[in-house]
Amino acid sequence: MEYQVAIVGAGPAGTFAALELLKRGIKDILIIEKGPPLEERQCPMKEKLECQMCKPCRILSGWGGAGAFSDGKLTLSPRVGGFLGEIIREDTLQTLIREVDEGFLSFGAPEIVYGTNAEALEELDNRCVRVGLRFIPVPIRPMGTDRCRKVLRNLYQHIKARANVIFNQEVVSLSFQGETKELTTKEGKSYRSRYLLLAPGREGNLWLKEQLSPLGVDFHTNPVDVGIRVEVPAQVMEEVTSLTYELKVIYNAPSFDDQVRTFCMCPHGEVVMENRGGTFTVNGHSYMDSHSPNTNFALLVKTTFTHPFQSPVAYGEYLARLANLLTGTVIVQRLGDLKRGRRSTQERIDRGLVKPTLTQAVPGDLSFALPYRYLVDVTEMLEAMDMVMPGVNSRHALLYGIEVKFYSLRPMITWEMETPIPGLFVAGDGAGVSRGLVQAAASGILAAQAITRRQGL
Ligand SMILES: Cc1cc2nc3c(=O)[nH]c(=O)nc-3n(C[C@H](O)[C@H](O)[C@H](O)COP(=O)(O)OP(=O)(O)OC[C@H]3O[C@@H](n4cnc5c(N)ncnc54)[C@H](O)[C@@H]3O)c2cc1C
Repeated sequence: MEYQVAIVGAGPAGTFAALELLKRGIKDILIIEKGPPLEERQCPMKEKLECQMCKPCRILSGWGGAGAFSDGKLTLSPRVGGFLGEIIREDTLQTLIREVDEGFLSFGAPEIVYGTNAEALEELDNRCVRVGLRFIPVPIRPMGTDRCRKVLRNLYQHIKARANVIFNQEVVSLSFQGETKELTTKEGKSYRSRYLLLAPGREGNLWLKEQLSPLGVDFHTNPVDVGIRVEVPAQVMEEVTSLTYELKVIYNAPSFDDQVRTFCMCPHGEVVMENRGGTFTVNGHSYMDSHSPNTNFALLVKTTFTHPFQSPVAYGEYLARLANLLTGTVIVQRLGDLKRGRRSTQERIDRGLVKPTLTQAVPGDLSFALPYRYLVDVTEMLEAMDMVMPGVNSRHALLYGIEVKFYSLRPMITWEMETPIPGLFVAGDGAGVSRGLVQAAASGILAAQAITRRQGL
């Protein structure tokens, strides 16, 4: 079977690339996805209360990619969500972000955008600056996990009517004959195309490296973000989250001068567990149509290792596994217990003000898993945040660990997302150019535009 363009991965990078190709007149498109269609993407953990180790993981794979179960927060600023700003001009990126936003809107994303009240943002900025926090104002269109799925369903119906979408087939190898690229799947099927876009997401990053390294493609080494997820009563953050939805602040924690940042704030949301090939880490979700009494967010410390250590991903995974070793799953601890140097117990958690939304987390002691340096960094950050949002640093605040964010290895590519092999493109989180829905989709559009230019369209 021969196509003009084959796309590996049906996440935002792959699907927005397909949309752009269709818009520009390319019709002969294949999308190949190792996960199932949207309606079969049910994570059994909610019912069975523990991870069933689905292969591939229903949370990360299938129509919509990792975005399908995501919180669906569209961050509409070139300053967050990826590294495209290092590859293309800011005004070009801004135009792409607008196009992505309009795309999501046309498939049913809600109209409301937070973080646009200039006067209130300036006042918040003043309060942050006074305590040493750098505030990054970012307009956000939250879809919520539930609405996100409706948008993805509409997107699927649009694309399915115009392109070939194949599910439950994992591409395992690539080969090249002249201008033709050939994909072979685990199931033994082969597909050929003139242009190939690889958009396998963060979990496909190592596979991408295995495919591209033998072709002579070099990769940049990346840092790792390690930290915890904080859960507090929603009232504590309400003043800020009703203005910005997600507060993005950066702090240079004084003891180690490390950079700590807030990440993925989920107002009235839930803390969730993620399974990375048997290692459990934490994350957060919010729903538009159902609200918990709590707000959660991550505090992450960025670490760039220098010679001779070159395995930041292995390091982050090791820390998460250490937390898993102690409890069999992820740890939850009250901030007050951490500060008193004692573990949390179920009884102490039950006495606290915050009822955990992640019931599978086991009360324990994060200080046995998280290095001292990170513990100091996040506690200093909470102290600074408390001066802007009193109550964040309360002894009742719950800390879940460990949250680890890996930066995918980034292949050396052109600004059009093309590898040194002509006609072979990469996009999205797997290619290390994005870390969120919007920039992933924008990078897919960039690659699609380059393909149509090659075709003279
Ligand atoms: C729990 C969670 C919450 C999140 N919340 C947000 C949020 O609120 N806002 C935000 O901007 N971002 C959020 N993100 C991040 C966002 O989902 C990702 O940045 C985005 O989905 C990346 O898009 P992508 O297309 O590059 O990759 P993915 O979305 O990861 O898609 C890649 C697809 O490729 C498929 N694939 C991989 N390898 C192969 C192969 N060999 N053969 C065939 N198919 C393959 C995978 O199955 C997957 O479906 C969240 C992520 C998670 C996990």
